[in-house]
Amino acid sequence: MTATNAQEFARAQGAMPGGVSSPVRAFGSVHETPRFFVSASGPYVTDVEGREYVDLVGSWGPAILGHAHPAVVKAVQDAAARGLGFGASTPGETELAELIAARVVRPSAVERASAGERDETSRTDENPQLQSVSSRLIALPEPVEGRSTTGTHPVERVRLVSTGTEATMTAIRLARGATGRDLVVKFAGHYHGHSDGLLAEAGSGVATLAMPGSAGVPAAIAAQTLVIPYNDVDAVREVFSARGHQIAAIIVEAAPANMGIVPPAHGFNAALADIAHEHGALLILDEVLTGFRVGAAGWYGIDPVPFSPDLITFGKVVGGGLPLAALGGPAALMELLAPLGPVYQAGTLSGNPLAVAAGRTTLDHLDADAYARIDAAATTIADAAASALADAGVTHVLQRSGNLFSIQFAAEPPVDYDTVRAQEAFRYPPFFRAMLEQGVSLPPSVFEAWFVSAAHDDAAVGRIVEALPAAARAAAEARPG
Ligand code: PLP
Repeated sequence: MTATNAQEFARAQGAMPGGVSSPVRAFGSVHETPRFFVSASGPYVTDVEGREYVDLVGSWGPAILGHAHPAVVKAVQDAAARGLGFGASTPGETELAELIAARVVRPSAVERASAGERDETSRTDENPQLQSVSSRLIALPEPVEGRSTTGTHPVERVRLVSTGTEATMTAIRLARGATGRDLVVKFAGHYHGHSDGLLAEAGSGVATLAMPGSAGVPAAIAAQTLVIPYNDVDAVREVFSARGHQIAAIIVEAAPANMGIVPPAHGFNAALADIAHEHGALLILDEVLTGFRVGAAGWYGIDPVPFSPDLITFGKVVGGGLPLAALGGPAALMELLAPLGPVYQAGTLSGNPLAVAAGRTTLDHLDADAYARIDAAATTIADAAASALADAGVTHVLQRSGNLFSIQFAAEPPVDYDTVRAQEAFRYPPFFRAMLEQGVSLPPSVFEAWFVSAAHDDAAVGRIVEALPAAARAAAEARPG
């Protein structure tokens, strides 16, 4: 007899802490039995009970072409037949590194105009949410003399690793090695993986479990991370005027998506680059989640104000669903990594040929048409969610950064971790459960983004849109506690 999700969960709890390999999968914050999936195809996932769901988790981002995309599966099968891994260099790694470097380019205004695009600055200025954030919080610093806005090809060398955690951890070690300084500035509510120094006031699962950080992190290591509020240039200036000579880097999510979506205020990333560079520190732009998802060149390519990050981290989409992540930057900085330089980093499975094949094939299929489909489906779903909630009388803000979006149960657009946490989060579990009952799999936490894929066709989007009104009513009826 086929096992039920509940039976699978009971068995898993006897074998693995909390029954899971990663905390949010336990469905704790939505008070529901986690679904145990056995297969997936396109926009759909199927659980052990044979029930199919339209999926808006997308493996937390990598499944941007839809699940089990035939070209990706074939590339992985072909690679597997040639050998699962050699612990040695392969031509495919170089090709993927070249592909990453070539894609992460900021089109010049001239190229954008000739491609028929409107100026991005004015487009964002028309976004009332971003406008309100900018006017409330940001007094943009004057441009620093000599600031390079020509950093249009910020990636000259790439190191392949296996997870986003490794990518950010390595970027920080590299920044410390390059500057000879120890301190790192991070923002409350941002998630950069689970390395010791980056868990303080972290987003994603740490936020979902309402943990301030993690046990097991030595106080001496936690003290190397200075946590400040997001979207607050004054806080950045203050921390640099107090300790600028000791700060190796600022690490920032390019467009935060691990406390729900909280778009950067207009010019915030540029302000970070300026302030870091004024003080001889580096800017690490974490694009593990946004990279190759919100556009061909990630958030870097669409931020309305040009800026020059020093190191960029990638994950999720770049591995096409298999364990692969990367970091990139200028040759002078990246070549401080071993074997050329003194900063050590290594990995048995780094650049694994199956993961490289999945990543390359995924990037190859992410053309303008694919992004247009993702953007259109995201707009339809986001608009439908907003109007269902409005019809049900639920106070909410639909926050968007490109094709990433999430609901915040708040009257004003949250701009940082404090305002995110002040929302009526108790409305999300009944909303989530009502969607699940109707066959839509949402992220099991209000602090996560909704991931749309290029495979979300009219039928899949239609099923989501149909399910939203009942979920909105469930959210309206929710009571705290
Ligand atoms: N950085 C960001 C922005 C992320 O969203 C994540 C994961 O969600 C990570 C880093 C860590 O990546 P991984 O889970 O692959 O270690």
